[in-house]
Formats: sequence, C-alpha cells, structure tokens
Amino acid sequence: MWRASSTKWACGALERGMRRAEGREQRAEDQQSLTPSPGGEGRGEGETGRLTLQCYTADLHIHTLLSPCAEIEMIPSLIIAAARMAGLDMIGIADHNSCENAGAVMQASEGSGVKVFPGMEVQSVEGVHLLCLFDELDAALEMQEAVYGSLPNVPGAAKMYEQQMVVDGSDEFVKYCELPISLPTSMDIDEIWERVTDLKGMVVPSHVDRLETGLCGVLGLMPESPEFEAFEISPNISEEQARSRYLSESNRAIFHDSDAHWLSAIGKQQTVFCLKHRTLAEIRMACRGEGGRRIENA
Ligand SMILES: [Zn+2]
Ligand SMILES: [Zn+2]
Repeated sequence: MWRASSTKWACGALERGMRRAEGREQRAEDQQSLTPSPGGEGRGEGETGRLTLQCYTADLHIHTLLSPCAEIEMIPSLIIAAARMAGLDMIGIADHNSCENAGAVMQASEGSGVKVFPGMEVQSVEGVHLLCLFDELDAALEMQEAVYGSLPNVPGAAKMYEQQMVVDGSDEFVKYCELPISLPTSMDIDEIWERVTDLKGMVVPSHVDRLETGLCGVLGLMPESPEFEAFEISPNISEEQARSRYLSESNRAIFHDSDAHWLSAIGKQQTVFCLKHRTLAEIRMACRGEGGRRIENA
C-alpha cells in the first residue's frame, strides 16, 4: 500500500488528486445536467402530502483516507464526484472505528444531490465488522466516543497514525487520528448493536461472507440475536448463495455495497431503495417491505 508519510507529501498528493479530478468532475456535472438524478435536491422532499415513492441508488459503505487501508485519493470532493459519476443518490461514509471525516464528506456533498449518511465500520471484540449508519452526525460522533473509549492502548505506533488523515470539507489536511482505529474494539456485537440502536442508528453486518471479518465467516453461522434488519454481502457471493448458506431461516434484506477503499470502486456494488425520503427510517421500512418501500436489487 502506497501511503503518505508526511503532511507535506500528503498535501501535494491531495493537490495532484484534485487536478486529476477536475476533468472527471466536469464530466459528472455534464452527465447530471443531461440526466437529472432521482436523488437530486428540490424534488419535493419534505412535502409529505404529495410525495410518491422514488428509487434511490445507494452505496452505503465507503471509506475515506482516514482508514489506514484506504488510498489517499479518498478525499471528500473526489468521493462526491465519483459518487455522482456512478449515478449514486445516497452514500454511507464508514471508516474503521471512526467517523472523523464523515462531516467533511457531508459538507462536500452540499449542492451535489448526493445524500451522505455519516457512520463508521466498527470492529467488535469478536473481530466482526459492523457497518453503523446514522441520520445525524451528532449521533455518529456520540458512537465514536464510545468506540474510541474501547480501543486498545497501543503506545509507540506513530507510523501507523500517519496513514490516518482527518481532512475538512475542502479536502484540507487537519490532523492525524492518533488512535489504533484498525484494531478491534473491546465491545461485543450485542453492545455495538445496543449502542447504535439507542442512538437511532442502523447496524448492518458488513460483508458477512468474508472469512476473517464477516459475521458469518467469523462465527460460522447467523446468530439469532441481535435482530439485524439487513446484511451486507461481498461481491464474492450471490444473494441466492448467501441465503442458502447463512440466511435460510431469515428473509432479511441484503445490501450490496462497494466497501470502496479507492475512487474507482465507488458504486461498483449498489443497492436500489424505493423510498419517500432518504432517511434511515425509510431504509428500514424498505428492508421490511412496509408501505410500498422496497429494495430492488438485480
Ligand atoms: Zn470491513
Ligand atoms: Zn469497509
């Protein structure tokens, strides 16, 4: 993995990344002007009396350059530009055990038509990755506080921290995150689920089929509790395979997300939600098939 080793280098890389993105962003704007996004602003969201269901294309699991395993090109403006190019109406920002760049991506999304859900990918003490999404940044930050308090104390790991960059909504370097966010927390799956649920967030087990960090891969089965409303599968398995291997007794929703760690991966896996609003409450209704809300995967 080729990553920044100094702030100076990082800033130069960000500028180069921005220059490379200029052409792409213009193409994205051209594309949007020709084909209005169903998730664009000004389409009557909030006018509850006249709303009809609309289909929104989503990729709810995207990392930024804060994750030590993500590329440095994963800065807010380029993530939004890539999301628009991929035709996405909703994205989720989920760095490992941290949401310190989620607010920056939300700022960068203003006026883009792309709805950003702040969140993080929390690693449980069992080693399972759990995608935790929120409507509001404050709730995500409250969860982050609990997560930070449950990370192990790893002294003398400064080199690792230099791969964990926090930026602002203009892609400017702010600081390094000096916590071992790529390590498991001391919270178990039930505690993470309870905390996120208390904060009105949603927990979706990430890439459940992965042997090392997927819920089913690690535990070898689908636990009866907590009652997750949806599961995410990796591109390595089809819905049919996942249901027959892990979900045979469950009709829970399946998410397809890219788990993007670099720009070209954004939107490579997508889930289509038919909703009235782009909120977690509506996404939950779609998971349960309530009120006409639904998931339309290929
Ligand atoms: Zn993961
Ligand atoms: Zn991930």
